[in-house]
Amino acid sequence: MTQQQTAGGDVRLTGISKAYGSFTAVHPLDLTVPQGSFFALLGASGCGKTTTLRMIAGLEDATTGAVFLGGSDITGLPPHKRPVNTVFQSYALFPHLDVTENIAFGLRRRGIRQVGKQVEQMLELVQLGDLARRRPHQLSGGQQQRVAVARALINHPRVLLLDEPLGALDLKLRRRMQLELKRIQTEVGITFIHVTHDQEEAMTMADTVAVMNGGRVEQLGAPAELYENPRTTFVANFLGTSNLIEAEIVSAGAALVVSAAGSTLRLPGDRSTAPAKEGGRLLLGVRPEKISLARAEDAGTVPGTRNRITGRITGSSFIGVSTQYVVESPAGTALQVYEQNAGDRRGLAPGTEVVLHWDPAHTFALDAAQDID
Ligand code: ATP
Repeated sequence: MTQQQTAGGDVRLTGISKAYGSFTAVHPLDLTVPQGSFFALLGASGCGKTTTLRMIAGLEDATTGAVFLGGSDITGLPPHKRPVNTVFQSYALFPHLDVTENIAFGLRRRGIRQVGKQVEQMLELVQLGDLARRRPHQLSGGQQQRVAVARALINHPRVLLLDEPLGALDLKLRRRMQLELKRIQTEVGITFIHVTHDQEEAMTMADTVAVMNGGRVEQLGAPAELYENPRTTFVANFLGTSNLIEAEIVSAGAALVVSAAGSTLRLPGDRSTAPAKEGGRLLLGVRPEKISLARAEDAGTVPGTRNRITGRITGSSFIGVSTQYVVESPAGTALQVYEQNAGDRRGLAPGTEVVLHWDPAHTFALDAAQDID
């Protein structure tokens, strides 16, 4: 198999960076997006995700580095010569053209006259067959967004870039369109690279997520892997809520034993980014939904294999599917616990003495020194 074949249609960024004067928006970045994957660039406003996307599209010149597509260097190609299309948040549909003509636009511009069949396929793909004769102002935001996707896909790009395409939609519609875009991507099978600041959106849609912070990729992985095993406090906090507790290493081996919040706790050694040395400090992490609560008087029923911290409930809020508790340990550490409201809801009152307990396998640890920097 040649190198070209091995590379397939992967998008590969090598040492790509962008500086605006003395400000570096994207630090040199190496990244491979496998062909046919749904890839998300996730991060807060200003982290450099749009700039990265625009360098792939050719809308922005890279200061250093190169962009490869399927083994070919496309760094020097202008946007219209790249087999790449972009869908922006502002769909920029032509207001005077109906849905059919908006979708057909790319083909017509290339002088293709027989567009009917292809447009029909696209209308079917985005499920807009009934609205083919409407103009953009007669469509909802979600429908306009589908037209924008169809208009991009009819050009048969090898990669579709999506820059916050759902940003203008209300929450419910956004959630529906996330599933819709995922379905479309699976159906057409081409690479989608999606920029978003919404962690739930990235996790719902993408096979692989790159979490960006300050112009760098902090961590790259499958959504569950990032969520279960974040390697930095930024990633731990950006993807959902984390309890991060200061801890000291008591003993280091295949399992780490640490002292935290007045308790002795364990975790698998390979789930820590901190140097494993006795007396070393780290931040111990556990997600709120991984923790169970037992009343203090039932502490005897908690298996000895579980990590446990005692405490008192200081707050609770009912949010439908779950009740969220804040529990304070005697050492003054506040922990969040989410309890599913399946069946009977317990509604433990503030002031109740409890034992928090969880499976050590659901514990991760971060390098406290690295994160204090
Ligand atoms: P958002 O979600 O707000 O779009 P982003 O993560 O996509 O944010 P970028 O648009 O990539 O961020 O911008 C990264 C950084 O580069 C920001 O600090 C931004 O202010 C800066 N920047 C972007 N374009 C320019 C420009 N033309 N000149 C100077 N600085 C720029």
